[in-house]
Amino acid sequence: MKIDNYNFAGKKAIVRVDFNVPLDENGHITDDTRIRGALPTLKKILADGGSLIIMSHMGKPKGKVNPKFSLAQIKDDVAKALGCDVKFAPDCAKAADAAASLKPGEVLLLENLRFYPEEEGKPTGIEKTDPGYEDAKKEMKARQKEFAKTLASYADVYVNDAFGTAHRKHASTAVIADYFDKQDKMLGYLMEKEVQAVDNILSDIKRPFTAIMGGSKVSTKIGIIENLMDKVDNLILCGGMTYTFAKALGGNVGESICENDKLDLALDIIKKAKEKGVNLVLGTDCVAADAFSNDANTQICPANNIPEGWEGLDAGPETRKAFAKVILPAKTILWNGPAGVFEFDNFTAGSRAIADAIVEATDNGAFSLVGGGDSVACVNKFGVADRVSYVSTGGGALLEAIEGKVLPGVAAVKE
Ligand code: AMP
Repeated sequence: MKIDNYNFAGKKAIVRVDFNVPLDENGHITDDTRIRGALPTLKKILADGGSLIIMSHMGKPKGKVNPKFSLAQIKDDVAKALGCDVKFAPDCAKAADAAASLKPGEVLLLENLRFYPEEEGKPTGIEKTDPGYEDAKKEMKARQKEFAKTLASYADVYVNDAFGTAHRKHASTAVIADYFDKQDKMLGYLMEKEVQAVDNILSDIKRPFTAIMGGSKVSTKIGIIENLMDKVDNLILCGGMTYTFAKALGGNVGESICENDKLDLALDIIKKAKEKGVNLVLGTDCVAADAFSNDANTQICPANNIPEGWEGLDAGPETRKAFAKVILPAKTILWNGPAGVFEFDNFTAGSRAIADAIVEATDNGAFSLVGGGDSVACVNKFGVADRVSYVSTGGGALLEAIEGKVLPGVAAVKE
């Protein structure tokens, strides 16, 4: 079912959102992007005359009640964003009465789902290698079903709008969908947009397609790099992984971050790129520092010839030009991961050059998708989040979707 075609009048809707917002030490929200992201879905349900049961996780309370992760802290912010009162259910698994008494237009926020281990469905207090683990797992899966059934019993219709957790098969993101008929379960607007954005990157590709993968390590990005290799025309690999490649090719990388056990993998990526005709773009020069600090002394040097005691913390000027050269003419762009330690103001130039080139290409008609925690932080830091085509709210979920994996949270409402 598509949310736009559904009339929620007189229905109780249970909506999985991602309200895992960052809080300061006083429990105040420091970035409400995720709440704003869910508003179109929540408002549509209320405008139709439905009542709303909102559920989410926050942080990692590991199956135990922990006031530090209580959603009560954000109840007033949710009320303000929605422009109406919000009731609170302090135990998400014992909210049947509160849900039953909801009238059209009323809103109930459930306490953190992850206060129950059943939400994630992983057995607690037992290691994978312990005897009895398989039985414990089976038992927890049964409990997870019961937990999902309880949540489902509160509502007539289920909406999943939590892209950030769509790659997890949790009670509230996937298992719950089994308890609704096909016509009474659907993706929310945010999820629809995310899925569409990934689709633009994976199937509706306008060429040339340039992907920029950065961040600290090649090992955490290998799945997505391999998948992209079949799709892109240009692949920029930047950030800390530059030095694993430089060393693999026989260079000296000084104190730079380098995965010595991934040198063969780096060579394999270079070989595959050649075989597949992908233009692999690696940094040739870098901004090297004599300490991992914003105030360190710096010098520009070749990425494969960094003096002892120095480490590459950002892309150099020649590299920045080379990156811009393949980003500017692109018609499809994906960016995940910074080109340097952008958290330090003196090492933002590489990431900034990428962001600027993406903005210019987008102005010239490219579709640009930026996703995965740190590159989103980059476009926010540089004030250009609204100058790219789409900024994804998903970290792991986005990467898994682009790796070509089916997201359980998406599949569940389609079955
Ligand atoms: P990831 O979580 O793998 O996407 O990596 C993001 C992190 O990579 C950011 O915190 C950056 O500071 C870090 N990073 C990027 N370039 C470098 C570099 N040259 N050396 C060390 N860390 C880096």
